[in-house]
Amino acid sequence: MKSEAIVEFGKPLKTIESETPKPKGKEVLLKITYSGVCHSDVHLHDGYFDLGGGNQLPVGAAMNLPHTLGHEIEGEVVSVGPDVSDVKIGSSVVAYPWIGCGECSTCETGDEHYCNAPQQLGIQLPGGFSDFCLIPDSKYLLDYTGIRPGLAATYMCSGLTAFGALKKLVNVNADDHILIMGLG
Ligand SMILES: [Zn+2]
Ligand SMILES: [Zn+2]
Repeated sequence: MKSEAIVEFGKPLKTIESETPKPKGKEVLLKITYSGVCHSDVHLHDGYFDLGGGNQLPVGAAMNLPHTLGHEIEGEVVSVGPDVSDVKIGSSVVAYPWIGCGECSTCETGDEHYCNAPQQLGIQLPGGFSDFCLIPDSKYLLDYTGIRPGLAATYMCSGLTAFGALKKLVNVNADDHILIMGLG
């Protein structure tokens, strides 16, 4: 398969070829139909987040180069591991990318996105800027029936961020005003 990968931080992505993965256990292989470009990808590509005032948050250590970015992943299920029975070949799905270790107390309480040993798609694991992407478990897939293809991909980060913020709003009255700012 071909992937657009970081081979050197801050330098243009390069097309690399690698063997298409074969899913094992609960893994699922998606043929990528769309993959969003998040603002975080710009920083990940640099190898650091610019915090302003000359301060940097290094993130390059999380990635082994060459690394395939892309955490807003939409695709078609093309093969599944032997332990997968809840998704069908040919299904159109999006993949939840904020995957944790699955073993710590944070993961056990359902907050995998806060895990200190993350295995996130497009960050620690290869992402969606590729022909195919291997998803570690079918439980991270969502059917996006009713949502326009391409738009559904962006809901896995851009959409989820806004949705998560709105869900945290409490005690909002009918005549209150809410200011939403995108500071991605
Ligand atoms: Zn993002
Ligand atoms: Zn964990």
